[in-house]
Amino acid sequence: MSTITDASPDTRSFEADVAKLLHLMVHSVYSDKDVFLRELVSNAADACEKLRYEAIAAPALLGDDPQPRITITLDPDARQLTIEDNGIGMTQAEMAEALGTIARSGTKAFMEQIAAKKDGEGGQLIGQFGVGFYSAFMVADKVDVLSRRAGEEGAGLWTSDGLGTYAIGDADPAEAPARGTRVILHLKEDAADYTRRFSVEPKIKAQSGHVPVPIVLKDKPD
Ligand code: ADP
Ligand code: MG
Repeated sequence: MSTITDASPDTRSFEADVAKLLHLMVHSVYSDKDVFLRELVSNAADACEKLRYEAIAAPALLGDDPQPRITITLDPDARQLTIEDNGIGMTQAEMAEALGTIARSGTKAFMEQIAAKKDGEGGQLIGQFGVGFYSAFMVADKVDVLSRRAGEEGAGLWTSDGLGTYAIGDADPAEAPARGTRVILHLKEDAADYTRRFSVEPKIKAQSGHVPVPIVLKDKPD
């Protein structure tokens, strides 16, 4: 269980455009939900690349864990899929900025296209744009992001059901990645297959076969 350890965690509203985008994700009839794998794995790989770059000037950031790695863990009993990287990580302020607003040009362009469409047609656009992190809510009804920025002692937890607000606060450092980000997807009932190796392994290959960081696929130990 990931829990925010502050006495009074901060609950914030998503930027209006994010709320619109999330609504679309959840209600779209778009069938190729597998793209969330591509988006989350590419974020994990980007985070490893950012760390590699920052470590040129500050090699200590790599500590005793210099090799980039993405770990995907399957937990069918809890119906959870976890995507973890040992990349740059995020502070709480960075999480609030990156996972609460639409700062990115790709998503902005997507929203502009959506605005021009009639209700129900927008879903087709999801596959054409890099819709990013928020695509997690196509398959999950709750997402936890536990992160520790490289070089920092504290860790943060961002958590949301994608319905308009998110909470953010301190995480128990013992629960968080030593460095980097763990995205925990609490999968919807109809998305349970993403915890089954025979189903998810080929999807990861199809969506992320080209990623320059090794991906380890693990089963949650009992
Ligand atoms: P994009 O990757 O196009 O910037 P996303 O919606 O996929 O857009 O992600 C938004 C931002 O969230 C990223 O730019 C990054 O700053 C942050 N982010 C997402 N996942 C991670 C991660 N695993 N590690 C570090 N930062 C991340
Ligand atoms: Mg991305």
